[in-house]
Amino acid sequence: MLNFTDVELERYARHILVPEIGAIGQARCRDASVLIIGIGGLGAPLAQQLAASGIGRIGLIDDDHIDRSNLQRQILYDTPSIGALKTDIAREKLTALNPHIRIETYAERATTSLLAKLLPSYDLVCDGTDNFRTRFNVSDACTHYGKTLISGAVQGLGGQVATFRPQHHGPCYRCLFPDADENETLNCSRAGVLGPATSVIGSLMAVETLKEVMQLTPQTPEHTIVTSWDALKSTFRRFELTRNPDCTAHSSSNEVVLT
Ligand SMILES: [Zn+2]
Repeated sequence: MLNFTDVELERYARHILVPEIGAIGQARCRDASVLIIGIGGLGAPLAQQLAASGIGRIGLIDDDHIDRSNLQRQILYDTPSIGALKTDIAREKLTALNPHIRIETYAERATTSLLAKLLPSYDLVCDGTDNFRTRFNVSDACTHYGKTLISGAVQGLGGQVATFRPQHHGPCYRCLFPDADENETLNCSRAGVLGPATSVIGSLMAVETLKEVMQLTPQTPEHTIVTSWDALKSTFRRFELTRNPDCTAHSSSNEVVLT
């Protein structure tokens, strides 16, 4: 069936049984490539879910080493791995989880030049980093190369997730935060975060990524749905975001737009 081995069919059986997914949706996962920027609180559970789901090629960018204070929420890592590079441990754990996929790691900062080198060869980008400067860099690179961006953020007792499709005339991350200070840190090391909240938002990012890959996406890709989750109130809220006509990211002639 679509060149899956019996072992792969057994592994992915619960996906294939879902009518909206089937073997075709699973084949789309196998043939897809996803670049994850930051494999901390959000990126680690996201990478686990995408690896388990059979995304064929996963790139991981992170230059951090594992710190004891990470272990309260980054459950991909454990106590003996303190001090190791996150990319090394993530590659080892994810390959053990699913040997049928390829994991590529980059123990570097997500600079503009690294993004320019990597983005063209990936289908989709996921951002789980913790500062506006990197987030704007990632967003601008996705707009420039015409890539869909799944963005997640978490702080305290909640978080949010959104999918941006600038190549379909959709908004970008700058449209959502036009007044953000690039030097500001969205840092749970300062603000704190409920441990499992990172897995909730990281898993929602995985869901949004798989919806894109499996082509279960909405008919209006130019609209972005921002989903906001509040742990205390036990609520999910959503609002629609369209492109900000004043957003500077779209005034450039470099922008890739699909017609
Ligand atoms: Zn924008």
